[in-house]
Amino acid sequence: MEDLKLLVVGSVAIDSVQTPFGFREESIGGSALYFSAAASLFSPVSILAVVGEDFPMDEVEFLSARGADLSGLKTVQGRTFRWKGQYGYDLNEAKTLETHLNVFEEFAPELTERQRSAELLFLANIDPELQLKVLDQVDSPALVAADTMNFWIEGKRKALQRVVERVDLLVLNEGEARMLTEEVNLVKAAQKIMEWGPSGVVIKRGEYGVIYFAAGYVFSAPAYPLEELFDPTGAGDSFAGGMMGALAASGDLTPEGIKRAIVYGSAVASFNVEDFSFTRLASIEYGDIKSRFGDFVRMTAFEKDI
Ligand code: AMP
Repeated sequence: MEDLKLLVVGSVAIDSVQTPFGFREESIGGSALYFSAAASLFSPVSILAVVGEDFPMDEVEFLSARGADLSGLKTVQGRTFRWKGQYGYDLNEAKTLETHLNVFEEFAPELTERQRSAELLFLANIDPELQLKVLDQVDSPALVAADTMNFWIEGKRKALQRVVERVDLLVLNEGEARMLTEEVNLVKAAQKIMEWGPSGVVIKRGEYGVIYFAAGYVFSAPAYPLEELFDPTGAGDSFAGGMMGALAASGDLTPEGIKRAIVYGSAVASFNVEDFSFTRLASIEYGDIKSRFGDFVRMTAFEKDI
């Protein structure tokens, strides 16, 4: 059997989300699901996660149709992870109203031989102790990247610190970068994170785009200037999925390759926020991403000298 290109562990959820443009109760969500919906536009991806018996499996069929491997998405007795969040007119940061771990409380991942052989691993936002359990089981991925959020920085800082020390690339939003490092300045925050272990840091800044730091590199990519934006939920995860999917497809893990993958990630995330839940991500194809990637290239190109 062919080696696995890309493995993601993270949440698969039922979300209830309020934005200034509407309320969507009990729709599918979760970091691993948004990640996979984005990554599968570029490369095969395998999901490792758990859901309860109440999860509407038929709603993730579009992922299998796109080549995502859902055999590691286990159904167990109990309720699916639930998250309730709210966005104000500043859509850059969600306010968490409720988090119910439910079936994730007891989840102990056991990787299959194929999953252990993953070339690229993404530890999407989930309990850092669970992220560590996955790290302990993989053979030797060419690149491991991770994401997290304030909930885990506050609740599981020690375990999270151990995760950060063991990954190559940390992807997190600006508020969380500040919270994790206790540095207000993002350049200092990124430097501190790189002193802990990762060779690169990607800081997500919502509508202001992302900044990537690596030794001798700073790269800034804008967010796509959208006229209509409905639901930012999953923007970070679909960004990471697009980025990792592009890395899996190109195989170029150098900082230059990561820069290009960041622009692909930004292109996917810009589609995701155009509608609630997976409505938009489920409807696009690679050609749509390619075309928006071209817009990014034009949007950021300028003459070199006066
Ligand atoms: P984002 O890409 O940052 O907008 O992530 C949104 C997704 O994160 C939602 O679909 C939630 O289900 C999921 N989520 C929220 N809180 C947590 C948590 N504490 N652990 C794992 N996933 C979460």
